[in-house]
Amino acid sequence: MVSNRSNSSSSSPCGQTVSNQLSATAAAPLKGIIFDMDGTLIQLNVVNELIQRIYQVADEDPLGKCLERDDLDVMIAKLSPEGQRKAKKTIVEILQRHVDNMTIQEGGPELVAFLARNGVKRAVLTRNYERNAIVMQQMYAQVMTEATFDLIIGKDTPYDTSFPPEQEIPKADRIRQICNIWGCDTNEVIMMGDSITDDIVEGNRAGCGGTVLLQPIGYQLNNFYGTRIGDSRERTPTMCVESLTDVRHFFAAQMNNDVCYQQGEM
Ligand SMILES: [Mg+2]
Repeated sequence: MVSNRSNSSSSSPCGQTVSNQLSATAAAPLKGIIFDMDGTLIQLNVVNELIQRIYQVADEDPLGKCLERDDLDVMIAKLSPEGQRKAKKTIVEILQRHVDNMTIQEGGPELVAFLARNGVKRAVLTRNYERNAIVMQQMYAQVMTEATFDLIIGKDTPYDTSFPPEQEIPKADRIRQICNIWGCDTNEVIMMGDSITDDIVEGNRAGCGGTVLLQPIGYQLNNFYGTRIGDSRERTPTMCVESLTDVRHFFAAQMNNDVCYQQGEM
C-alpha cells in the first residue's frame, strides 16, 4: 500500500502533497534511485540489538553515562578511547552476524530489475561496510538476470583523497557524489530508505527530487531517537510505502509503462 499518511501512532503525516511532488519529480526525468541497504534492500534484524549493545558500552564507559542517546556515531565519538574501541568491535561483530544471516527484502529484486529495464540507475548508499553491501549485491545477482546496482558506497568507501579511508561521510555528501558520477542534479534522483533520521533527512538535505520511506509493517520501525515522521521538514518523506513491491507499482504507473509491466512479473 502506498500512502501519504503514516499508520503509526505518530500523528505526523508523510508529505501531504505526495502525488504532486512525485509528479514534479517525474516531470524532470528520473535518473536514478539511491537505496539504503539495511532494512531497505535487506531485511532488518539486528538494529535493535546493535543499539542496545552500544548503549550498554556507553553505560559502562566513564565518559558515556551522561551522553545523549542520539545518533550512534556521534555518541561513540565522545566515548573514551577504550569505549570507542569496544563500540566499534561490537558493531563489527554484529554486522558480520547480520551478513551471515542476510535476507533479501521482499520485492527487492523485482524492483531493481524493473528499474534496470527502464533505464533508471541504481545505487546503494549504506552505513554498513562496502564488503557487506557486495555480499548483498551478489545475493540479488543470483536471482536476477538484469544488472543489479551501478554503484555501491559503504561507510568505508573512499570519498576523495582529502579524507582518510575509514572516514564516514554524511549521506547527503555521498548523494551529491553519486549524482556527480551520474552526471545529474540531486533533484533528478530519489533517496529511499527505512530511517527518517538518516535516509530521509539526508535525502532532503541533499535536495533529492523525492524521498521514500519504507515501512515494512506499516509504521515507523527506526524511531530509536524519539523522532517522529514529519516532526520537521527534513524528517518529512515525500512518500511512505509498506513494501518494495508498492514502489515498483508506483513507478510503473508514473512511467506510464503499464505495457511493459505486468503485475507478478519481474
Ligand atoms: Mg536502514
